[in-house]
Amino acid sequence: MRDFRIWNQKRPQKSACKRFVLSNRLSGRWRNDAGNAHQPHGIIEAGVTLLSCAICEIRKEKRFCPAIHGRICPQCCGEQREVTLDCPLDCTYLKQAREHEKPQPLGDLEQSALFPGVEISEQFLYEQEHLIVGLSFALAKSVRANRNLRDSDLLGALGSIAKSYETLVNSGLHYEAPVTNPGQQAVVAGLHTMVKEFREAELKHTGHSRLRDADVLQALVFLLRMGYTRTSRRPKARGFADFVVAQFPEKEPAIAASGAGGTIIVP
Ligand SMILES: [Zn+2]
Repeated sequence: MRDFRIWNQKRPQKSACKRFVLSNRLSGRWRNDAGNAHQPHGIIEAGVTLLSCAICEIRKEKRFCPAIHGRICPQCCGEQREVTLDCPLDCTYLKQAREHEKPQPLGDLEQSALFPGVEISEQFLYEQEHLIVGLSFALAKSVRANRNLRDSDLLGALGSIAKSYETLVNSGLHYEAPVTNPGQQAVVAGLHTMVKEFREAELKHTGHSRLRDADVLQALVFLLRMGYTRTSRRPKARGFADFVVAQFPEKEPAIAASGAGGTIIVP
């Protein structure tokens, strides 16, 4: 402190303290960089050894990452979340990120992916609520059966089957858009099964099936557009997948299956 008092005769105390802290921090960082090769997980700062991030091995760790079972820095968490990291759904930081993530604007997507020629009216959503709930249930069922499914699989499957229906509606031709990913194939099969069952149920209860291919196309495109607003679009994102599963709690499958109590959330 004596040294400080001498120094302070020439400089304001506040400035001197700041400089002192800054110089210590800088020297601490310098020491760490110089010794990185021998001590990859440690930062020596102001005489205290702190663990460094298990991913970048440079910045200080601040949080536990359940994906790698190690401690990482907030920056790596933010950058690698659902990109290289398979974040468990119950991760606090994943949940927080989703709460703060703004819905993705559809404008920056390749517009053809959204089937711009397909118009969906409020009236359609009202009249075909059961179909939309049924297709959402098919998606949820696929996700429950295969927890490795990501938003990209659901969106890929919806896009592929919507393309088939668009061709059918516009030209009457049966065309199956190729799907090579086995996960997506299962989702496509689940959606086809749901449409088939929906038609059979209509036939059984009313004596005829009123469902048009154009209705199926609109319902698929509605879910596709909703999906794009619910995903972060990171490679391993599962925001949309989690969302559809959350619509159908496992203890009440009867409600979802019948469509009687299902709710549609308009994006
Ligand atoms: Zn890091």
